[in-house]
Parts: sequence; C-alpha cells; structure tokens
Amino acid sequence: MKVCVVGAGVVGLTTALELQRELRNANVTVLADRFEQDTCSDVAAGLFRPSSSFSGPTEEITRKWISDAYSYWDELRKTEHSARAGVCQLSGYIFSSRDPAIVRNYYIEKVVPLYRAATEQELGLCPGEWKYGSFFTTILTECRRFQPWAADRFLENGGQIVTESLESLRELQGRYDVVVNCTGLAAKRLCNDQKLVPIRGQIIKVRAPWVKTFFYADFDTYIIPGFEGVSLGGCRNYDSYNTDVSPHDSSAIRERCEALLPSLRGSQVIRESVGLRPHRDPVRVELELLPTANGNLRVVHNYGHGGYGVTTAPGTAKYATQLVKDALKSNSKL
Ligand SMILES: Cc1cc2nc3c(=O)[nH]c(=O)nc-3n(C[C@H](O)[C@H](O)[C@H](O)COP(=O)(O)OP(=O)(O)OC[C@H]3O[C@@H](n4cnc5c(N)ncnc54)[C@H](O)[C@@H]3O)c2cc1C
Repeated sequence: MKVCVVGAGVVGLTTALELQRELRNANVTVLADRFEQDTCSDVAAGLFRPSSSFSGPTEEITRKWISDAYSYWDELRKTEHSARAGVCQLSGYIFSSRDPAIVRNYYIEKVVPLYRAATEQELGLCPGEWKYGSFFTTILTECRRFQPWAADRFLENGGQIVTESLESLRELQGRYDVVVNCTGLAAKRLCNDQKLVPIRGQIIKVRAPWVKTFFYADFDTYIIPGFEGVSLGGCRNYDSYNTDVSPHDSSAIRERCEALLPSLRGSQVIRESVGLRPHRDPVRVELELLPTANGNLRVVHNYGHGGYGVTTAPGTAKYATQLVKDALKSNSKL
C-alpha cells in the first residue's frame, strides 16, 4: 500500500505521522517542493487559539478537530520530545477596548485547562483603556523546531521524503494508491479551488527573553514568546499575494506592540517574515476521485487552515487519515 502526502508544511507532516501510526503496513512518502523555512508554517507564531473563522463542514466536526488537535499537542508537550519538537504550555491575556465578544473563544474555552475573565487589576497590566479581557493557558508550537523534528520521526519510522514540484496531482496516478493533498495555498491552482484565499501576515521576531506571557489586543496586535524569540504581530491582508516585508507594516506592528508592552522598545530584531495564510471556509478535508487518463486517482484533500493551521493540523490529520482508511477499504469498488 503506497500513500503519498503532498506537502511538507505542518499539515503534511502531522498527516504523514498519523498515517504511519494508523496504517502500519503502508509505505508513506512525503513529496514537496519546499521544506521547513520555505513554508508558510515556518512564519507562524504557533499559538493554539483557533477563532470562529476556522470552520469545518459542521460545528461538531470543527470542535472535534480542535479538541483532537489540542490533545495531540498536550500529549507531546508532556513527553521528553517537547523541547526538540518546539511544544510548550503558555499563558497570557487577550484585551479589548471595543467588544466583550473579542475576548471570548467558544471553541477553546472548554478545551484548554484555564480560560477566565481578567480581573479589574489585570485589565490595568498594560497601558491602554482595556474594558474587556480574558486570561488563558494554552499550547505553543514553534514550527522552526517542530518541522525538522517531525521529519526526523517520519524518516525513523521508515517514511521517505521526495523533493519534487507537481504541475498536477494527476502526475501521481499509477505511483501511489492514495494521495493526500496538503499543499496549503497552492491547492488554489492545483485544484482550481476559488474558495481558497490568501490572508497575508507579517511578523517581527525580536530578542526579549524577559517576556514570558502572551498578549493579544485590538487590531491584530499580538506579542507571543516562543523558543527562539518573541513574535510581534501582525496584520491580515485579505486576498493579498505580496510576500515582501513591508516597512510600513513593520513600523505599525512595532508601534502597536510597544504601546501594549513598553519593555519591548529597542528589542533587537531577529528576523521579519511574511506568510500567506491559506484561508478557506470551510477547511477542505474530503475524498475526491480525480479522473485521469488511466482511471480514478483517490485524493484526500487536507488544506485551507487559514491562520490556524499550526495548531489545528493534528485534528484534521486524524480525520484525513480516517478518510484514507475508508478509501483503501472500498478499494475494490473504485
Ligand atoms: C504571520 C502568520 C502568523 C500565523 N500564526 C499562527 C498561529 O499563531 N497559530 C496557527 O495555528 N497558525 C498560524 N498561522 C497559520 C499557519 O502558518 C498556516 O495555517 C499553516 O502554516 C498552513 O500549513 P500547510 O501545511 O497547509 O501549508 P504550508 O506550510 O504552506 O505547506 C505547503 C506545502 O505544500 C508543498 N507544495 C505546494 N504546492 C506544491 C506542488 N505543486 N508540488 C509539490 N509540493 C507542493 C509546499 O512545498 C509545502 O511543503 C500563521 C500564519 C502567518 C502567515
């Protein structure tokens, strides 16, 4: 049984590991044209905080993806692999001066170990007229560590990694029994999927080891400490394909983050990066029988995670793996 996962971002790698766990006799290959620091996954801060714009086909399935993903990260966090895999627990605040709904998160309030309203005293922790706030504990996954760790695990388990750029998924007909499409934004072209839209984001990584708490505030402002540095963000440019770092965005991000946490002033920049979040409503995780000149190719799609792919990937990976198993079981009928 030969299964090919196209894509080596966080979605592809978590799916490949899950396939190895569930299909012991399968020969799993990861095929991609970009790896690690050249993927969108590498740009993410990686905080587990899916918002209401993350959506599966039904609310029940969305919630299952989220809780399965949280369990995956939380279990990994408790193992001896956590530091190498870039996974840790982190607590922090979300503040708003506008709307109490902004500081609630109905998806994760019952999933994470702690989610409560901020006290009056806590609303005064940062400069600003904060009327509403929440404090919560969640998980951070830093892809600069997770992706190499996951690739090593995948190879140790007997997987193969191939560097190849596909013009079409049909090129894989005859080479594999099932293909899992984890190509992120590239699925727009590969699948002619007009529902997939880039949401451009830019972050600044700074050296500020004294920051141990995350902060979110109005207008896409976030400060998220990680293993390597502190991520300052951000922006959301809908339908923008601009992958250049914008000096205008950099100064706006700096200004908002330093206003929220003045101790960041003068912190040294490690790097600035831009990524195009692959947004789709709903996230596409489904089986397709792709007609080719030599019969149908079984493709399980797993893409469109938008701004929440790092943390929700293990949930959709589990769902996609079940679809692969179903497709293989119904082999004779196809
Ligand atoms: C600024 C920013 C901040 C973010 N913060 C967070 C956060 O805090 N939490 C969170 O959960 N998410 C966050 N995200 C979102 C997250 O980064 C994405 O949802 C996630 O990286 C999507 O992963 P992916 O594996 O689908 O895509 P990618 O990482 O883009 O991987 C796609 C893979 O497909 C391969 N591929 C594509 N086309 C082809 C082809 N034709 N042939 C061969 N291979 C191909 C590529 O080579 C690559 O390996 C953030 C994103 C940005 C930009």
